Order: sequence, then C-alpha cells, then structure tokens
Amino acid sequence: MRAFDYLATVDLRQAVRLLDEHGTSARILAGGTDLLADLKSSSSSPGLIIDISRIKELKVIESTAHGLRIGAMVTHSEIMQSALIREHCPALADAARTIGAVQTRNLGTLGGNLVTAVPSMDSGATLLALDARVVLACGGGTREMPLTDFFMGPRKTVLRPGELLVEVVIPACNLGKPAHFLKTGLRKGQALALVNVAASLWLDAAGNIEEPRIALGAVAPSVIRAMAAERYLAGRSPQSGSMAEAGKIAAEECRPINDFRATAAYRRDLVAVLVKRALAQACERALKRQHERGAP
Ligand SMILES: Cc1cc2nc3c(=O)[nH]c(=O)nc-3n(C[C@H](O)[C@H](O)[C@H](O)COP(=O)(O)OP(=O)(O)OC[C@H]3O[C@@H](n4cnc5c(N)ncnc54)[C@H](O)[C@@H]3O)c2cc1C
Repeated sequence: MRAFDYLATVDLRQAVRLLDEHGTSARILAGGTDLLADLKSSSSSPGLIIDISRIKELKVIESTAHGLRIGAMVTHSEIMQSALIREHCPALADAARTIGAVQTRNLGTLGGNLVTAVPSMDSGATLLALDARVVLACGGGTREMPLTDFFMGPRKTVLRPGELLVEVVIPACNLGKPAHFLKTGLRKGQALALVNVAASLWLDAAGNIEEPRIALGAVAPSVIRAMAAERYLAGRSPQSGSMAEAGKIAAEECRPINDFRATAAYRRDLVAVLVKRALAQACERALKRQHERGAP
C-alpha cells in the first residue's frame, strides 16, 4: 500500500467541500471493509482519504413525512438493531443479518455497500423492492434519484467525482409494506450471495396482489428488478401457482454468469425457487397485517 494523506472530519459540509476540491484523487473512507482491501491490492493510491465515519448527520435513522431516512454511515449492525427499521421494513434488517460476520457488520455501512455496487450486495435487493431513493451531495448541492438509477454495472454507480452518498430514503407510502429477503450462498454464514432475492407486495380489498416488486442480486451486472414477473403478478390472486410462474419468469429475465461459485443455470434455478418462496412469505406477512387490522 502506498502512502496517502488522511483527514477525518465531523462536518458533512467540510467532507463535501474536500471531495469537491480533490475530485478523483480523493477516496471516502466509511467502515473501510471494502476500501482497505482495495487499497492493498491496487497499484495506484489516492492522494487523500476522507474519513466520514464521525459525521453524525450520516448516522441518522429517522421517520419523516417523506419516508424513513437511513444515513450512509449507518452500519449493518445498527440496521439490525434499529427499532424503526424492524418495525417499518424488517426485511432490510433480515438482509443486514446475512452480511459477513459480526466484525464486518459492525464496521460495514449501508452507504459503502451501495457505492461498492457489487452485484451480490445484500442491501440492494430489499431497498429496490421498497422503491428506495438515494440522496447524493456535492459542492453544487444535492440530487435525489431512485436507487434503481444509481447502479450502472459491476462496481459502477452514477456517483460523479466529488459526490458523496448522503442517505437512503424508503418512501413513506412503502413503510410497513410486506416484504421478504432470501439469500443463498455456498455456506450458511459469511458467504457472498450466489443469488439474493427480495419481494414486496400489497393485497387489495379483494385479496389480489397490488404493486408487486421483485428484486434480484448476483444474477445481472447490478441488482435488478424482475419487471416482467412483477407485471405478470399484478392483480392476480396470491396462489402458489402464480408465485411459481412469477419465479420462472424472473429466472428467464435475469442474466447470471458462470463463475467459480456456480453456473448460470444453477443460479437461474435458484432465482425461480427463491422468488416463489419470497413472494409466499411476503403474502403471509400481508395476510397477517390484514388480520391484525381487523380485515374480514
Ligand atoms: C470478510 C467480508 C465479508 C463480507 N461479506 C459481505 C456480505 O455477505 N454481503 C455484502 O453485501 N457485503 C459483504 N462484504 C462487503 C462489505 O463489507 C460491504 O459492502 C460494506 O457494507 C462496505 O461498507 P464500508 O462502510 O466498509 O465501505 P468502505 O470500505 O469504507 O467503502 C467502500 C467504497 O465505497 C466508497 N464510499 C463509502 N461510503 C461512501 C459514501 N457515503 N459516499 C461515497 N462513497 C462512499 C468508498 O470510497 C469505497 O470506494 C464483506 C466484506 C468483507 C471484508
């Protein structure tokens, strides 16, 4: 690893200003679980590392009229422990629980997970299934966009040099939306996903599926929505046959690769099974919610 300058700040505006001044020669340090490995293996080194881990504004978990704000510096352990997240989007806490080991979850952040943008990331699928948005900041101000538009490909996002991911917002209309996350790896613990899947849906007054979302990780250049499967499901009754069919459609629309972990064909089979199971679990949560609210 080559020498670089290091600066820790507690001030979000200063972090943005420094990033703006140093552009591509600066790198952000959040939890460091990905960055340190990167720096050790890379032949080039940044001129400046900007440590954002002490910026309180980036550690917020707050419910507002706009939605649930989760700061970029919130760690996976904090997501698991947050009463607000467990109440409004428990599937996100379930996804965080599957990330690495306790040491990685204590240091690794939501922001770092999304910015690293590896297709197998475990935070992305649930957030896509809940129509999450991201807020980015640079010297010129802030911009907000759907998380789906943030990813451009493996390890590529729309972040421009000098731009910081500030927070993720789950829209208020989706807080409490029944959702479920599932991951399959080569081991039960500490394994990257061969496939991960998140599904969310509402049931309308007639008991039919409304606004279904299916998101898939590790089977395309970035985390994706299975939109053909979603279109198929919308308005259907939540029968196991229709969920199985949605799984088959999702398996056709994803684009997995063969690698040393698994073949593309095996990943497609996993998608079909996991989508069906995640939809069934989301339906179960939806029915439970209706029951608790006294629906007939
Ligand atoms: C042993 C091990 C196991 C792992 N297991 C899993 C797993 O099961 N599932 C999984 O999804 N991931 C896993 N990871 C990957 C990693 O832990 C996560 O992606 C983690 O969330 C990264 O967050 P971080 O805060 O450590 O990011 P850092 O390493 O600090 O940063 C990662 C990258 O993002 C940039 N960055 C960070 N925050 C921001 C920001 N707010 N704005 C702009 N740029 C930013 C950094 O400059 C860097 O390029 C594992 C890693 C290790 C080492």
